[in-house]
Amino acid sequence: MKGVLYVISGPSGVGKTSIIELTLKKVKNLVFSVSCTTRPKRPNEVEGRDYFFVDIVKFRDMIERDEFLEWAVVHNHYYGTPRKFVEQEIEKGKSVLLDIDVQGAMSVMNKYKDAVYIFIAPPSFDVLKQRLINRGTESQENLQRRLEDAKRELSYIPNFEYIIVNTQLQESVDQLCSIIVAEQLKVKRIIDRLGLHRFFENGGENNE
Ligand code: 5GP
Repeated sequence: MKGVLYVISGPSGVGKTSIIELTLKKVKNLVFSVSCTTRPKRPNEVEGRDYFFVDIVKFRDMIERDEFLEWAVVHNHYYGTPRKFVEQEIEKGKSVLLDIDVQGAMSVMNKYKDAVYIFIAPPSFDVLKQRLINRGTESQENLQRRLEDAKRELSYIPNFEYIIVNTQLQESVDQLCSIIVAEQLKVKRIIDRLGLHRFFENGGENNE
C-alpha cells in the first residue's frame, strides 16, 4: 500500500508553513519532507526540522550524486528535495507533503503523474505584501525580490489541480485536509492499494 505524494506551492509569505504544520497534526500517516537549502538559517529555524542547511559545495555534490527528487534556484538560493526520504516513506505507505516552489512542482509533475498538486494563493497581492512585511524575516531587497517572484509564481496556477485561497488559516487547513481525504477515497487509488486490478479486469468476477 503506497502513500500519496502531495506537492504544495505558493508564493513566499502566503502561509504555507502554518497550513502545513496544522495539517500534519490532524492527518494520520502524513509526513513532511524536509528540504536542503543554501539559504542562511533564520533565527527561529531548526536544522533538520525546517531545512537541512548546507553550503553550495555540498549542494552541488548532492546534485552530482542524483540525491534530489527535484531542485531549483529560488530567490537566489538553492533548494532541493532529498529523494531517498520521499521514496522510502511512499514505499512504506506514508503520504508525503512537499513544500516547494513552482519550478520544483513542474519538475515533479514530469516524474510523478500520480501526485496531487495544490497551489496556495493569497486573497490579493496587497495582502501578500503585508504578510511578508509583518513576518519580518526579509531585508528590503529580499522582500522586493520575493514580491517580484510572487507575480511569476501566480501565473503557474493553471498547472495545478487544486487551489486554496488562504484568507483564514483554519479554513485553509480544513480545505487541505478535505483534499487529502478526497484523494485517498479515489477509486483508482483504492484499486492500486488493494491490488484489485485483475479482479476488475474480469468484470468483478474472481476466476482464481
Ligand atoms: P523560504 O526561503 O521562504 O523558506 O522558501 C522559499 C521558497 O522555496 C518557498 O516557495 C518554498 O516553497 C521553496 N522551497 C522550499 N524547499 C524547496 C525544495 O526542496 N525545492 C524547491 N524547488 N523549492 C523549495
